[in-house]
Amino acid sequence: NSDLILTVNFVLLNSDTKQRYVVKDILGQGTFGQVAKCWVSETSSYVAVKIIKNQPAYYQQALVEVAILTALNQKFDPDEHHIVRILDKFVYHRHLCISFEMLGTNLFELIRINSFRGLPLDIVQLFSKQILHALIIMKEAGIIHCDLKPENILLSASVKPREIKVIDFGSACMEDRTVYSYIQSRYYRSPEVVLGYSYTTAIDMWSFGCIVAELFLGLPLFPGASEYDLLKRMIEILGGQPPDHILRSAKNTPKFFRCIGSIHGLEDGEVYSGGRSVFQIRSEEEYEANESKKPVIGKRYFNYVKLEDIVANYPHRKNLPDEEISKENLTRLALIDFLRGLLEFDPVKRWSPLQAVQHPFVTGEHFTCPYKPPPEKLRNFGGQNITVDHNPGGGHWF
Ligand code: ATP
Ligand code: MG
Ligand code: MG
Repeated sequence: NSDLILTVNFVLLNSDTKQRYVVKDILGQGTFGQVAKCWVSETSSYVAVKIIKNQPAYYQQALVEVAILTALNQKFDPDEHHIVRILDKFVYHRHLCISFEMLGTNLFELIRINSFRGLPLDIVQLFSKQILHALIIMKEAGIIHCDLKPENILLSASVKPREIKVIDFGSACMEDRTVYSYIQSRYYRSPEVVLGYSYTTAIDMWSFGCIVAELFLGLPLFPGASEYDLLKRMIEILGGQPPDHILRSAKNTPKFFRCIGSIHGLEDGEVYSGGRSVFQIRSEEEYEANESKKPVIGKRYFNYVKLEDIVANYPHRKNLPDEEISKENLTRLALIDFLRGLLEFDPVKRWSPLQAVQHPFVTGEHFTCPYKPPPEKLRNFGGQNITVDHNPGGGHWF
């Protein structure tokens, strides 16, 4: 076993600074190693220490986590941007140890404590804004988190109620160094990652959309039991599919889609404009014949198929006074419009964190019509700042 055996009052020592960390509890355990709640007597406070397995691959990846978090903490005030604060890093008996500020319950736990009935809309709105503030600075720094999910978002310690922070940069990477293709936890995995297409910080915005839906519904929106099941759910619930120009060049397209028509005659890079796609998701039987294995299909959580119907009908709020009902219904419409901009198949059209943070669902402004985000400024593209209109048609509606 490559884990350190931890007992209460076990002391982890930073031999350079002589700082002692006294283990008091285990907070988490995973493939990477263990997270312990530790007492620091000099400051009379607890910290969380992530103790990485003493194997080279984990050690190397944890160094990336340290580098990315240190850079983020230095560049931006972690107290204002909802990203966990890193405190110390040392090697103890060939285990890399990283200490963090002590945080509280993770958002999956919070959903579970609430019996999977979803959180109140004002809380969903508040958490959305805070996660977006974290995503804004990550994008500014060119960092992709790659594992955004409720388990990796923690409530602050009880002194700051209703505050959350993003943790676990153990899978994060720089936007210009996207080397891994098997990333993101399945329910929160973006279509471009499933398809083996090039990816950007926009994959975190997809995960963010999944998280917002789950905080509200209490249950995951796309609980894909396999990648095929995941894609099928996305297509069904969103009523669309990845655009042809992506399907035409993505590595994994043949695994999930069949081509139903000629794509000859199209120049390289030219977008098929016949109105209908030439790609169709494979049936289960076809997938099985093609991949020589049955696709794993999970159970359904909702009695509705379309996003609009799911969000309009779940979760049931009992005993709402009449005047609250119309307000809640309007906020649900705002939420649907918000989710539509995040759960956009085309990563180029998907809203950026800066665009999403100005949505009425987040700002609390009265929601009247589909949100049209301001054009996104692109960073120094070809020596000049160019802007693209992400939504020339005026948005989605229902
Ligand atoms: P895996 O990727 O295998 O899930 P991991 O890389 O996710 O492991 P972390 O997410 O960083 O490891 O930490 C694991 C768990 O430890 C978290 O889900 C959380 O419950 C707990 N934890 C981590 N950091 C803190 C912290 N600063 N304060 C309190 N609890 C923490
Ligand atoms: Mg984690
Ligand atoms: Mg992790």
